[in-house]
Amino acid sequence: MVRRALRSRTLRRVKVKTPGNSVKTHFRKRKPKIAHCGKCGAILKGIARETPRKIQNMPKTRKKVMRPFSGVLCTKCSRALFKEKAKSLR
Ligand SMILES: [Zn+2]
Repeated sequence: MVRRALRSRTLRRVKVKTPGNSVKTHFRKRKPKIAHCGKCGAILKGIARETPRKIQNMPKTRKKVMRPFSGVLCTKCSRALFKEKAKSLR
């Protein structure tokens, strides 16, 4: 049996194949929730779902889409916002 701290479900269990050809359970941190739109709650696509430490070493293009409000609003909501802003300029 593993040590007491690892018996809770705080950490997720990952089965890993070792070089000696046996399968062992590794305990890893859980991934954060998927990013959602701040307005309608839809899932944001193209945004990495990883721990902050892993995201730090990722390229910019894997972290977000190259568009204003990319990590905050979904495409539909951001388009609507741009349209409204363009209307107010007239
Ligand atoms: Zn939205």
